[in-house]
Amino acid sequence: PINTDPDEPVRLTDNDAATSRLSAATLEYLQDPFAALLYKSSPLAGPSRKPPLINIGTHHRTWALDRLVDNFFRCCGDEAAQVVSLGAGSDTRFWRLMNRDTPPNLAHYLELDFPSMTSLKAQRIARSPKLSSLLSPRPVSPQVDHQPLFFENTTNILPTTQILPSSQKQPYQVLHGGQGLTSLLYTLLPLDLRNQPLSSILSYLDQSRPTLFLAECVLCYMIPSEGNKVLEFFRENFSRCVGVIYEMCGLEDTFGKVMRRNLASRNLSLPGVYASPSTLAERLLIEGKFDRADGISLWQVRSIIPEEELKRISRLEQLDEVEELKLVLEHYCVVWGSKGLNMNLTLTN
Ligand code: SAM
Repeated sequence: PINTDPDEPVRLTDNDAATSRLSAATLEYLQDPFAALLYKSSPLAGPSRKPPLINIGTHHRTWALDRLVDNFFRCCGDEAAQVVSLGAGSDTRFWRLMNRDTPPNLAHYLELDFPSMTSLKAQRIARSPKLSSLLSPRPVSPQVDHQPLFFENTTNILPTTQILPSSQKQPYQVLHGGQGLTSLLYTLLPLDLRNQPLSSILSYLDQSRPTLFLAECVLCYMIPSEGNKVLEFFRENFSRCVGVIYEMCGLEDTFGKVMRRNLASRNLSLPGVYASPSTLAERLLIEGKFDRADGISLWQVRSIIPEEELKRISRLEQLDEVEELKLVLEHYCVVWGSKGLNMNLTLTN
């Protein structure tokens, strides 16, 4: 069939991220009980078991981002902080954080994506008691059973009414006719980052709080001026801000051209790809007016992962092609920056 929606290929990239996460979780590269709840694989999404190289890449990417997010919360100390995930797709990070024995000091976690993506995610959250029970803060005393703080059932109902939990009360409020939802800790909103004002997210956030934005494989699909508008929004609205970007980089070399060709065969162009981790870090300094920024390739990330962890994952599957692994990981980068915060966010501690 002829695809008339030019954004469909970009939305489908979430299948790659989600199937990779599911594969890595199933094979125990990652601990992620939520990957299977937020993504149901379809025959179109390809085989559910990814090759070792992809599983290792997913592990290193998750390791690096988890570490930066943890460092952000640690740097905020006693002050509750916020996270905004841009193009969140089927990401599980919010649930992984809140499922910990000691969750971070989170004021609010907000996820954005195209409406078709957020509708599906909202339905999955609504259907799953395990996902929806983590949307509100836990009781302080572990002796008390977790009684989520409920909203009274709202007039908005999700499009397919049978997916609603039988209880008339929910720990969330449905938004935009089922395209989003909001709770005390978490909000999911439909929004096209390129041409809808981000200012609509401000009513769910506290601009005086330290705020982290996460952009995992999303800015590279936008032309630089559109991505820069997103950075400008955080620059203008949050005086204390951290940004973390993960995406492909350096696609001008021979291997990069092969990657581009593969993506082009899926109607994916990458108008916003940067040449290197350092040029992407400069983007944060210039467009986001960050005080400091830094970035490294996923191959460099590998060199700072503790030896024991590398040993553990090396026992999970046999990797034959270390050279190929290097080539692939060198084309992905993790970049972070901060402004207005007395913190030196690093990956190395
Ligand atoms: N961040 C998630 C992760 O790492 O698992 C998903 C990554 S997926 C590769 C890219 C996501 O960005 C998709 O869910 C896509 O729909 C979303 N996205 C891309 N362009 C967007 C835009 N202009 N507005 C909102 N979402 C967008």
